[in-house]
Amino acid sequence: MASNKKLLVLPGDGIGPEVMREVRRVVDWMDRRRAVGFDIEEGLVGGSAIEAEGNPCPDATVAKAKAADAVLFGSVGGPKWDSLPFEQRPELGILRLRKDLGLFANLRPALVLDPLVDASSLKADIVRGVDIMVVRESTGGIYFGEPRGIEVLANGKRRGFDTDVYHEDEIIRVARVAFDLARKRRNKVTSVEKANVMQSGRLWRAVVGAVGKAEYPDVELEHMYADNCAMQLCIKPKQFDVILGSNLFGDVLSDLAAALTGSIGMLPSATLGAIDAVTGKRHALYEPIHGSAPDIAGKGIANPCAQILSFAMLLRWSFGLEDDAKLLETAVEKVLAGGLRTADIMQTGMARVGTSVMGEAVIRELDKLAA
Ligand code: NAD
Repeated sequence: MASNKKLLVLPGDGIGPEVMREVRRVVDWMDRRRAVGFDIEEGLVGGSAIEAEGNPCPDATVAKAKAADAVLFGSVGGPKWDSLPFEQRPELGILRLRKDLGLFANLRPALVLDPLVDASSLKADIVRGVDIMVVRESTGGIYFGEPRGIEVLANGKRRGFDTDVYHEDEIIRVARVAFDLARKRRNKVTSVEKANVMQSGRLWRAVVGAVGKAEYPDVELEHMYADNCAMQLCIKPKQFDVILGSNLFGDVLSDLAAALTGSIGMLPSATLGAIDAVTGKRHALYEPIHGSAPDIAGKGIANPCAQILSFAMLLRWSFGLEDDAKLLETAVEKVLAGGLRTADIMQTGMARVGTSVMGEAVIRELDKLAA
């Protein structure tokens, strides 16, 4: 029998533990039905780790993350820790994990589910059927490039500067993630940059083009300027399958794509590292795109779907359990089609429910689908 999958669960702060509780039910449900089970460990991260250990990402958490097959992350942060100096803030918990696990490819699906088509601020016929995956390079580019800083000039005026820098190997590895994903989807990659005005953009376009031609001739590759991509996302989003961008452009465009779907409480994400040449495994962390939502924490009204769908991504990308991932995604969609809504996605004529009722409803749908 195959060995169990090692899963590290990091609930974090605010609504993190509340929505993670609902995922644990799903994990238990899957565990009962499958030949391969899950070995689950929990760890501390963010504000809760600061309280317990004085550190937003204790070494023990990093060690557990490195030993795990996949990490399921909640969210971190909250007003209690907002006044701490930057180096001690809860948000450093996720940054350290990304850095120490070498997680360079951030995957953010923007999927418009049919029952929520009216939640989008765009017209229903423009967004119905949108299914986009944004792949964002997440360890390089302008957010990390040197030199960076704010300097005071001789005339007393300040000057702020950042550097958008990419080594071609950084572009190659994230491009491969995007092309591999496209092959499992609709076989198209749109690579975005500003090759018309940025040198790093020129290199980006050339390298992605070369990878596509040499390794993925079967995948359609289109190059697009990032500003045009932003416009096209609003005008004709269905033209996109996989969008590939740098840290900066991927950040902005993935938020824009997410906004097409209408709710932050529905959107999962994954961040992947390199494939180990010996074991064939890769580090990966899965999390909802939302934060710890301190304004609603403790009220039992948070939408658990983004966290549940993050677990579905984990099943697909880390454990290769495509059927189980699909089953879970279908269960969530059926719950919504049945008319249940948490407050963030509430619509006229639907039934408003809290976090745990939503979680229970997903389990009920799983039972029905598996019957
Ligand atoms: P947020 O995503 O926590 O909340 C934004 C708004 O969306 C709030 O009104 C919130 O109530 C609502 N919302 C978010 N998730 C929801 C859900 N599942 N169900 C229903 N409503 C939901 O963003 P914010 O308010 O800017 O940040 C709050 C804290 O979270 C800050 O400390 C921030 O640094 C942190 N944060 C953490 C992460 C992370 O852990 N990766 C990401 C973003 C923000």
